Amino acid sequence: MSTLSLLQLTKQFGDVKAVNQVSLEVADGEFLCILGPSGCGKSTALRMIGGFEMPSYGDVLIDGASVVDLPPNRRPTAMVFQKYTLWPHMRIFDNIAFGLRLRRLPKDQIERKVNDALTLVGLTDYGPRFPTQLSGGEQQRVALARALVLEPKILLLDEPFSNLDALLRVRLREELRRIQRQVHITAIFVTHDQEEALSISDRVVVMNKGRVEQVGTPTEIYNTPQTQFVASFVGTLNLLEGRTVNRADNMISIDGQQLCVERIEPTGDVLSVALRPEAITLHRETDVINALPHSNTLHGTVEDVYFLGSVVRIRTRLRDQFVNADTFNNPHANLPTPGEPVLLNFPPEACRVLI
Ligand code: ATP
Repeated sequence: MSTLSLLQLTKQFGDVKAVNQVSLEVADGEFLCILGPSGCGKSTALRMIGGFEMPSYGDVLIDGASVVDLPPNRRPTAMVFQKYTLWPHMRIFDNIAFGLRLRRLPKDQIERKVNDALTLVGLTDYGPRFPTQLSGGEQQRVALARALVLEPKILLLDEPFSNLDALLRVRLREELRRIQRQVHITAIFVTHDQEEALSISDRVVVMNKGRVEQVGTPTEIYNTPQTQFVASFVGTLNLLEGRTVNRADNMISIDGQQLCVERIEPTGDVLSVALRPEAITLHRETDVINALPHSNTLHGTVEDVYFLGSVVRIRTRLRDQFVNADTFNNPHANLPTPGEPVLLNFPPEACRVLI
């Protein structure tokens, strides 16, 4: 259990600033995800925390003390990598016990700690097996047990589930969260998968091109993205071009149709407007007898209907631009078909003008 501070952490590889002035405070017992596309610098940032990469500039503090001059094995951190990296010639018990033996712990203590760690990750009887006798998911649990058995203050995880199938990923990430809460450890989890990040984190750090774009709780990141990058990287989004009509009343137009947004912040007449598909309700023009619930209505024509399982996505053309509207699947729903004129209804707060 511990706090972590990153102070202007920077890593330069030749001309590339892989991590650029990243500053961050991570609270005791927090589960923090670093989320971003491939190459944004998230693994490099994690590796600098773990001591596998030396910063070009900046500092890493754990409980207020700098650790940048310490090698990985002398830092109070433990890392779980994407590849399980278990020693194939060693039994599971010995894989987990390895770090404890290096610390020269008494034999009975090692045995107790390894067995506790195996139980924690749900592999109580697996000690005598070899890694090849385990599935990928089980091997990754062993890797987690091997990290936890060292009782680090901070657990670092670099895309630990990305080699596993989709269902197993979900199960293991839920299990990881349960274990992290149970042992109350501070955890930093790197992923490029936004669903993974949103579902398990206390807070998410969105990185792009070596820099932090936004830090916030999953709901803040999803519902109030601060930049175009965050808005388009996290979740499915309609990113539309709008024009200011009346700044005082927050009126804009999209493809010639007027609507009201919550706030027009940046100056300039051409605006980038984010509109979440699930915030829109879609109506057939002929079905609308009473007033629609929200003040904004755009007229469009259905272009396509995509069945995605629990959600049906309806792609609608305005004049030059397209808007996706999501509705929950319902076997009795009478969905519109391509070519039909429809009304897209949504509240002003569903529209965010981005910087
Ligand atoms: P991915 O999800 O693909 O692993 P990432 O966000 O973790 O990506 P990093 O691995 O941190 O990204 O890499 C960030 C940038 O730094 C990339 O442009 C990468 O090519 C570069 N980079 C990383 N390690 C080195 C290295 N040892 N030498 C030179 N460049 C490197």
